Formats: sequence, C-alpha cells, structure tokens
Amino acid sequence: MAFVITDPCIETKDTACVDACPVDCIHPGKSEAEFEGATMLYIHPEECIDCGACEPVCPVQAIYPSEDEVPESQKDLIEANTVWYADRNRAEEIVRSHMETHKDLMGIPPQERRAAHR
Ligand code: SF4
Ligand code: SF4
Repeated sequence: MAFVITDPCIETKDTACVDACPVDCIHPGKSEAEFEGATMLYIHPEECIDCGACEPVCPVQAIYPSEDEVPESQKDLIEANTVWYADRNRAEEIVRSHMETHKDLMGIPPQERRAAHR
C-alpha cells in the first residue's frame, strides 16, 4: 500500500519529497525532462517502501500514507500516481480532468487545499 500524492502538489511541485525519498520512487524530479510538463509529481506504487519520509516534508500536505486514507475527492489521483510510470499522457489527462471537475478545490490556494479535501 503505497503513499499517494494529491492535488495540493499542483501549483506547488517544489520536489521536497523527491529529496527526502530514500528509494527514488517520486518523479519527475527537477533534473528530469518530464518535470516541466508534469502538472504534479507521482509516487511509484510498487517501489514505495512506505517509509514515511516524504509526508512531513511536503509544505502543502499533499501526501497521504495509503490509498485507503485518500479522501473521496482525491481518489482519481491514485490512478494518476500509478499510471504515470506506464503512460505519462494518461496520467496528465487524469490530472487535467481532476482540475476541471474540482474547480472548487483548485480555487483554494495549495497550502489550504488539503483542509478542504472531502
Ligand atoms: S513513503 Fe518513503 S519510499 Fe514511499 S514515496 Fe515516501 S519517501 Fe519514498
Ligand atoms: S513535497 Fe509535496 S508539493 Fe512538493 S513536490 Fe512533493 S508532493 Fe508535491
């Protein structure tokens, strides 16, 4: 059961979690070609070792410790985290659709967005 990145990462993308992860399973990092085009970052569901190092360093609390703990409004992004490692375009499609269908959340500054997750 991997950790999952959710929508406060959108518009934040500071990569603090990438630097904290001991197994390099959060991508894309700043040095990767995909970084510029990625709307958010994604955790590889099979490579994540559930160490918890990423969660406290995220300045906007975008990371949940398991799929089960991801609130209803963020469930679509579980698939985005997973699929990015096989199909970058599909992951970005899911994220764009999330932004479109959750305009209420997107209207809230990233640092306050987690508190509005339902
Ligand atoms: S829980 Fe640990 S292994 Fe998993 S993404 Fe976070 S830092 Fe990396
Ligand atoms: S630390 Fe949080 S906001 Fe920054 S890149 Fe990671 S998940 Fe996104």
